[in-house]
Amino acid sequence: MQRLYILCCLIVLLVGIGCDSKEQPDAPVAGKYRVVTTIGMITDIVENVGGDRVEVIGLMGPGVDPHLYKASAGDVQKLNSARLIFYNGLHLESKMADILAKMSGNTKTVAVTDAVDRSLLLTPPEFEGQYDPHLWFDVKLWMNAVGRVRDALSEFDPDNTSAYQSNAQRYFVELAGLHAYVEAQANRVPTEQRVLVTAHDAFNYFGKAYGFEVRGLQGISTATEAGIADVQALATFIAERRIPAIFVESSVSPRSLEAVKAAVKSKGFNVEIGGELFSDAMGNEGTPEGTYIGMVRHNIDTIVKALIGESKAHATSPTGY
Ligand SMILES: [Zn+2]
Repeated sequence: MQRLYILCCLIVLLVGIGCDSKEQPDAPVAGKYRVVTTIGMITDIVENVGGDRVEVIGLMGPGVDPHLYKASAGDVQKLNSARLIFYNGLHLESKMADILAKMSGNTKTVAVTDAVDRSLLLTPPEFEGQYDPHLWFDVKLWMNAVGRVRDALSEFDPDNTSAYQSNAQRYFVELAGLHAYVEAQANRVPTEQRVLVTAHDAFNYFGKAYGFEVRGLQGISTATEAGIADVQALATFIAERRIPAIFVESSVSPRSLEAVKAAVKSKGFNVEIGGELFSDAMGNEGTPEGTYIGMVRHNIDTIVKALIGESKAHATSPTGY
């Protein structure tokens, strides 16, 4: 047993040595200042706007659910070593609230949603008066987060303000193109067929921006489990409306939606799993879906193909649905 323990320690040590400097919180990259981020969509903004001035460490990788995410001891070390921390806010990273609140001294924490006009935020009744945090699926609204990062970096490092401004401007142009693409794709789906059923309520902003009726099995946060009554109610809705496809999410277990599919079948209708959407986490690094723009394009392509009946011919996903 002791030998096993020593072996494990040795492996941990070797893996640690093998990691690049990004994984070693005590060794900042020369000439750069360290920024720590929570969800991948924010990491992507800081990489785009900060460029080669910043060393970005994203805490939440592919498949990670930010509603349930708790900071590990290693994360706390990374947070402590950062000059700036960017997080979404609006209770998305609900289990990290205490740690973020305690950061002080040399570390500045910024919620990228804090400057967004509150009248543009959604307050779904089931979220008990709180704002829906998933605003990245309205591409135009998410541009506010880009502006917030640009301003915070400029304030922290005023000598490079013009670089942050031009980087942000270039990214804004790309995002404007993305917004137009999503709109054009959404418009391929006849209005009455624009119904998006997913594992949890991450797509309300998407629905509002691009004209989809949205239903999630779980609520705004995945912290509340869906019950049998929720499954049955959603199955009845799908069968009555004859919705052809529903969608699993990369950061939420597919089990609950498979239960919905089975419940729909027992009502005499067949609904397909139309593919996997990236909701609260991006795809793997190095793949198109490992960027914000790539994940949004993947989602709209998957949704449109499944809803207009091209799913078998074109839509693919990493999990093979
Ligand atoms: Zn969510």
